[in-house]
Amino acid sequence: SRPIVAVVGRPNVGKSTLFNRLAGERISIVQDTPGVTRDRIYADVEWLDRKFTLIDTGGMEIGSEEVIQKQIVQQAQIAIETADVILFVTDVKTGVTEDDVKVANLLRRTKKPVVLAVNKVDSVKRDTLAIYEFYELGIGDPLPVSAGQALGLGDMLDQIIANF
Ligand code: GDP
Ligand code: MG
Repeated sequence: SRPIVAVVGRPNVGKSTLFNRLAGERISIVQDTPGVTRDRIYADVEWLDRKFTLIDTGGMEIGSEEVIQKQIVQQAQIAIETADVILFVTDVKTGVTEDDVKVANLLRRTKKPVVLAVNKVDSVKRDTLAIYEFYELGIGDPLPVSAGQALGLGDMLDQIIANF
């Protein structure tokens, strides 16, 4: 069966935007009940003839700060258990946060490959200085991407499929 790639990261870094961008037009909202909007979380993605299943582990991310922190940890654990490759998403606009460090600490304990994306690098000039801070997560080379502007996604996908 296809390798599984799980998108993880704290709320608001752009996981779902990235997921939808990679899933392209094949994606659709599977359930849209008033008050409960639930995006589809699985998508089949193909890159350079390699097919994989992408999972947005983010869910709805609602509740108190404490509840959200638990959700972040649970999502990272689900990803560690089920994924072949973990796509860890962070945000250049906020820089490294405490929650990013928490996720990184969990991910560093797994032997599974982790690709570190720094999202919201929207300029074609690619804000390179701002991404150096993300080396401190100890996950490897940060890859600048913009889910919003569809930048850097090819390099990121190359890194993902190199781990299959
Ligand atoms: P999630 O909580 O991690 O799933 O994040 P979302 O995908 O819901 O995005 C959170 C916010 O960040 C939304 O307002 C998005 O429009 C915004 N966002 C996502 N990707 C980008 C990006 O590449 N650039 C910018 N400037 N904003 C983005
Ligand atoms: Mg989301």
